[in-house]
Amino acid sequence: MHQQQLKKALKNAIYLLSDDKTMKQKIVGYHLDEAGDWVVELSCDHFQHVRHQPPFINRPWVVTEAGRKQMLGLELNCKKCDQNAPKDKV
Ligand SMILES: [Zn+2]
Repeated sequence: MHQQQLKKALKNAIYLLSDDKTMKQKIVGYHLDEAGDWVVELSCDHFQHVRHQPPFINRPWVVTEAGRKQMLGLELNCKKCDQNAPKDKV
């Protein structure tokens, strides 16, 4: 890669990082809510629903244990962090 291209790529990466205002948080666990919907627990102590409601919301991975295990550590956007919402985990 040319020096110039490298600089450009680097600049782009920094721009992308700083432009992404949504906080990303890792999935650290799961639980079911009262309605039987899966909820992910994020590393920021916020919870987020990960419903599997085809055909509108397709998250087939969430209904199997293997799928959920595979998604552990994945980063999700946490809107609650952006809004400074209180923690869900007590
Ligand atoms: Zn959060």
